[in-house]
Amino acid sequence: TYVVIDNCIACKYTDCVEVCPVDCFYEGENMLVIHPDECIDCGVCEPECPADAIRPDTEPDMDKWVEFNRKYSIAW
Ligand code: SF4
Repeated sequence: TYVVIDNCIACKYTDCVEVCPVDCFYEGENMLVIHPDECIDCGVCEPECPADAIRPDTEPDMDKWVEFNRKYSIAW
């Protein structure tokens, strides 16, 4: 899965949301998040983010971000 990290806070662009083929972005409290079970790992959103806030969970130390994204994508 891809996840959104805190670089997203205060970013006003939603280019990522528009390109996602499965609509798996959700609004968290002050940033966007990706539902980790709905993301199909296509990677299309990553280069669209001007804040470099979208990362694959294969990067180091992403576990807490996967859980954060999961928590806020099912909170509403
Ligand atoms: Fe959506 Fe693809 Fe980005 Fe996952 S990697 S959030 S499916 S655009």
